Amino acid sequence: GHLPEEIRNKVKNHPCYSEEAHHYFARMHVAVAPACNIQCHYCNRKYDCANESRPGVVSEVLTPDQAVKKTKAVAAAIPQMSVLGIAGPGDPLANPQRTFETFRMLSEQAPDIKLCVSTNGLALPDCVDELAKHNIDHVTITINCVDPDVGARIYPWIYWNNKRVFGRKAAKILIEQQQKGLEMLVARGILVKVNSVMIPGVNDEHLKEVSRIVKEKGAFLHNVMPLISEAEHGTFYGIMGQRGPEPEELQDLQDACAGDMNMMRHCRQCRADAVGLLGEDRGEEFTLDKIDAMD
Ligand code: SF4
Ligand code: SF4
Repeated sequence: GHLPEEIRNKVKNHPCYSEEAHHYFARMHVAVAPACNIQCHYCNRKYDCANESRPGVVSEVLTPDQAVKKTKAVAAAIPQMSVLGIAGPGDPLANPQRTFETFRMLSEQAPDIKLCVSTNGLALPDCVDELAKHNIDHVTITINCVDPDVGARIYPWIYWNNKRVFGRKAAKILIEQQQKGLEMLVARGILVKVNSVMIPGVNDEHLKEVSRIVKEKGAFLHNVMPLISEAEHGTFYGIMGQRGPEPEELQDLQDACAGDMNMMRHCRQCRADAVGLLGEDRGEEFTLDKIDAMD
């Protein structure tokens, strides 16, 4: 179906959610979150979190102070800058002090910038109050499954209550936390987008079920992204040779999950330190040494 008017209004100047806006408004990510609380088989920790980030070059991790300074410098240089996201390089909510300190300072010092965050969802239920306090515009949860048997093939372990939990049991906890977090955000009126990584032979068919459930619970967009499998990134999935989807396979699955959600197809899986209009990356203009020199 179509997006309700109130959501359409909320996202109309957001570069990631509106086909029109992404030509006129810019976004940036600040990489303040190095740690992660789960392991995805497709993650290669040498690169950025695959929640939203294309495996590429490692982001420089910034302190909250550096991130605020960078955001202000970018906003001064790129007047279309409307959205600041925290998406890695690990999981933002596994680094709550760093992530929330950044949001707190920005909502005080740059109140016109919309804030967003993406997460694997494990720590989400514990963070909903804090997210609501900082006036977070929307949250992206990466949900790759709703069935622990599928999950056990995607996540070897999670870090939970100070211990490592493995296999199906780990996947079950992660799935429950993701679904609970999604429900809590929707209940607070915070917009939720769901990202899924399509892994051929593992969760491709299953993602139709994921799509149905997350939309039913109130996610406003479901974005199916391809597993990016490139030989030079070595072992995905614990074994060599897990392939990413062919373009037609991805297209077919996106069609099956679409509804009005096809507006998300221009998502570029930006890096955790991306800067600029979608499709451009001006991150090199705002590296740590350049920001530190901006006093
Ligand atoms: Fe890697 Fe992101 Fe998965 Fe954490 S959530 S293991 S950083 S892909
Ligand atoms: Fe927008 Fe997708 Fe890039 Fe995030 S990764 S900033 S949703 S285009």
